[in-house]
Amino acid sequence: MNRTKIIDAHGHLLTGAQDLDRIAECGIFEQIWLLGLPEELKIAQCLVATTKEMFEVASRYPGLFLPFAYLDFRHPVEQVDRMVEQGIAGFKAIYPPLPYDHESYFPYYERIASYRLPVVFHTGIVTSPPLSERPVGLSYHPANMAPGNLYNLAGAFPDLTAIAAHFSIPWNNELLPAVVRTPNLYVDVSGGMRSRCQQLMKENIDSVASLRGGRTGTLVDKVIFGIDACYGRANYHQDIIDSVTDWNGFWNDVKHCSWSSKIPAIVRDNAAGIIRWAKAGNIQ
Ligand SMILES: [Zn+2]
Repeated sequence: MNRTKIIDAHGHLLTGAQDLDRIAECGIFEQIWLLGLPEELKIAQCLVATTKEMFEVASRYPGLFLPFAYLDFRHPVEQVDRMVEQGIAGFKAIYPPLPYDHESYFPYYERIASYRLPVVFHTGIVTSPPLSERPVGLSYHPANMAPGNLYNLAGAFPDLTAIAAHFSIPWNNELLPAVVRTPNLYVDVSGGMRSRCQQLMKENIDSVASLRGGRTGTLVDKVIFGIDACYGRANYHQDIIDSVTDWNGFWNDVKHCSWSSKIPAIVRDNAAGIIRWAKAGNIQ
């Protein structure tokens, strides 16, 4: 594996973030997408950062951290405009009260698509905590976050960039035909089921896929790299660096495969292209 700096297109930020200089100076990352979550959510007893904190971190490390706001279906669609005015790079959806492709959500997608911003959608199984720990008004039902919902809405809104997180495991069989047929639907490999993602990638990477602009490529052009870790605590930062090392072992293992020249696309270029596309069309 060469020394391509990577884009972690699936990160989160904890409140009161510390030790970020280490991440900024480790030489591994070109860009890290900080995906917003419901602000009342706790991860390992820590609250997640507010959108305001994500913007502060982004301005302290220009170009490195990109804030993505939590797309909160409990609140009106105008949240999209407010976030765009502040310079948001995209949105993150998880725990929708209704399935992602419910028609009552179409105005959100229409608005986000008008700015050509990406949305990272949690897909697949999700940790199901006790009721007392759940934000009020959200749903943890995995069917609401199944990849078929994204197939439907990505087709309806071709200017929306939809990224299905975590290879939609365990619904990868539902996801893959949707990703290869839909130019604006991508998949990220983030999350705890790393070896399963790696296996799925190896098995399917040469599948022919539709791309934007009427072009055709392969699944390799639709895969986005991500870790799905929390930034902002020293102990998590070591895990993040270890995770990159583990992935480097995988890239090394596949270096003789037909698609190995596209590894930089997976770890950097595909995500960079999504941000470029958004910047080119953003009316701000
Ligand atoms: Zn995540």
